[in-house]
Amino acid sequence: MPYDLAVRGGTVIDPSQGLHAEMDVAFANGKVAAVRPKIPAAEAREVVDASGLLVTPGLIDLHAHAYWGASDPGLPPDPVNVAKGVTTAVDAGSAGARTFPAFRKWIIERSDTRLFALLNISSMGMVGGNHIGELEDMRWADVDEAVESWRGNKRYVLGIKARLGRVQALENDVEALKRSLEAAEAMGGFVMIHVGNTATPLEELCKMLRPGDVVTHSFGGFEDVLIDESGKVRDGFKEAARRGVVFDVGHGGGGFSFTNAERAIADGLPPGNISTDLHQGSIGGPVFDMVTTMSKFLYLGLSLDEVVRLTTQSTAAIMGMGDTLGTLAVGAAGDATILRLAEGRFPLVDRVSTSLRFQNLKWEAPVRVEARQRLEHVDTVRGGSMYRPWLDWNA
Ligand SMILES: [Zn+2]
Repeated sequence: MPYDLAVRGGTVIDPSQGLHAEMDVAFANGKVAAVRPKIPAAEAREVVDASGLLVTPGLIDLHAHAYWGASDPGLPPDPVNVAKGVTTAVDAGSAGARTFPAFRKWIIERSDTRLFALLNISSMGMVGGNHIGELEDMRWADVDEAVESWRGNKRYVLGIKARLGRVQALENDVEALKRSLEAAEAMGGFVMIHVGNTATPLEELCKMLRPGDVVTHSFGGFEDVLIDESGKVRDGFKEAARRGVVFDVGHGGGGFSFTNAERAIADGLPPGNISTDLHQGSIGGPVFDMVTTMSKFLYLGLSLDEVVRLTTQSTAAIMGMGDTLGTLAVGAAGDATILRLAEGRFPLVDRVSTSLRFQNLKWEAPVRVEARQRLEHVDTVRGGSMYRPWLDWNA
């Protein structure tokens, strides 16, 4: 029997191969082994019927928080990622050089979710909540420590995360970004910056970013940085996007605004990546999960193929892993997500709290919309087999 698993009869959407058609997908030895119409059931040990459903490459979340118990926002990774269709997640700076070893040993290497990390440029990582910013004291931002940590953890560390808001970095944003770029350069990795309420205008910070670096919370609900008073995207951001800087969603509790996302898309700056920033403060809403975040962009008018591309192919490319992840090409990692595109009336909300002023910044009230379509998670294929952790309990 050539295959371990065949997912049959679904509509395969794999932007990496330009596929949107009814196809069967077969897996063997943990990898994708075939994508073609009508793979006979007799050729696979297990057969899953996906008729009426969508089959995509395993979804990737570029902005996750998985360091439960050590970093305040951290969630246990498997129930919120692989169990919800996200087979690969990149932890965005929960750990820094001094807190990474435990993250690796107790979380990354024990999770079914395929986890990678952006090392926080602050060696402590995110342990201070909103009370003690990790970049208030720049002695924590040690380039050598970060690079040394990467040297011992190259298979997991993809670059650097720096949270540059005043809450995290006071007036240190430019210096913190300089050090982040220096460390990322040494690693051959990318930098992701958390923005909103930065001491230095974001347009200035973006000039420092290189192609492939990522701005997260781009379409945020704070005092708007992306959109000017006339409702248009500021020129500096369009220029940065032209240079290859990625404007990522990083939804979170306050990192996404329907109004700003709508304006940005209308003015030619659609998201370069869709990620959740799922954490303790966003999982109970407004984020909930990856499929809800994707559904918000369907609501905003992006095509289904584009929404899938921005959570598979393009995400893997940002990570430098486009050959093996975010694709159902034969030989790629055997991860896939089975989804349902449901029709109905679905309420969606973009951020927490009510209208308020925070450190002299305006925070608009949440916007609620009603979508007519929604993506729902049905099943996950991870490493070539159905993700069914409960079966292990019977073993
Ligand atoms: Zn985050």
